Amino acid sequence: MRAIHQAAVDYVNVISCNGEEPVVFDQVAKFSWNGQVFGLLDRQQGITKPRQIPTAISIRTTFTRPGANPPYSDKIGVDGLVRYKYKGTDPNNFSNSALRATMDHKLPIVWFFGIDSGTYLPIAPVYVVGDEPGNLQFSVAFEHRDSMPCSDLDLDTRSYNDRIVSQRLHQPIFRQQVMRAYSTQCAVCQLRIPKLLDAAHILPDSHPKGRPIVANGLSLCKIHHAGYDENIIGIRPDLIIEVKPDILKTRDGPMLLHGIKEFHGSSITVPRNPRERPEPSRLEERFWSFRNAV
Ligand SMILES: [Zn+2]
Repeated sequence: MRAIHQAAVDYVNVISCNGEEPVVFDQVAKFSWNGQVFGLLDRQQGITKPRQIPTAISIRTTFTRPGANPPYSDKIGVDGLVRYKYKGTDPNNFSNSALRATMDHKLPIVWFFGIDSGTYLPIAPVYVVGDEPGNLQFSVAFEHRDSMPCSDLDLDTRSYNDRIVSQRLHQPIFRQQVMRAYSTQCAVCQLRIPKLLDAAHILPDSHPKGRPIVANGLSLCKIHHAGYDENIIGIRPDLIIEVKPDILKTRDGPMLLHGIKEFHGSSITVPRNPRERPEPSRLEERFWSFRNAV
């Protein structure tokens, strides 16, 4: 059984370049191992259990359109681990029992995170490490460990868990959501080469409002991302780009002229969906740091 679970994890990591590229439903509905075909992602169920084994092999969080309420709320507990809601309210229904069996056998599974209709970012391996029937949920970790009561966790462990959840879950999903919202192009120069694009934070991770959500994001190419972070370019709340005055006065080659100075006074390109556009209050707060740095 462990070999089947591991084969599922390996399969999704190969087709998604280790979780960096999104996959569509048809690519991950099934996978083959040892001449047999196993279900990997079900169209109807959030928890998928292949018919040949007693354990669940994947969990799914469905895509929610910006502004809509998610059907399931996957939350972070005080221990820094992510929660995955039971199917329904019966702890012993078929799906919940299969996921609990995965936990009992300490098996790796795949988490499919919906980033668009029928499109998922697979994160694997993840492990179900705790069962909380009182709250109708499981806790999920990105490496195997035995669950421990929250009261036994020291601050270092919690902050380690927070960091891992951010690296493994929030940042990759944030990137995909920002790329989709901006049609995979730089908001400043419209460059469309994915490998040269970053999902930049408007207010940084360390800021209390620096959450990894599209309204706090900008799709920027590497040069404009670095320029934004280093306060060489600023973006006003009315979406106009400003270049630092001393840079504007500097003479250099074509990169500085065409890549930076010529954008002074022009507007960034924002997502079509108003809910996905940069939030003016965040831009404004960030723009003050640019102004103060000038
Ligand atoms: Zn750019």
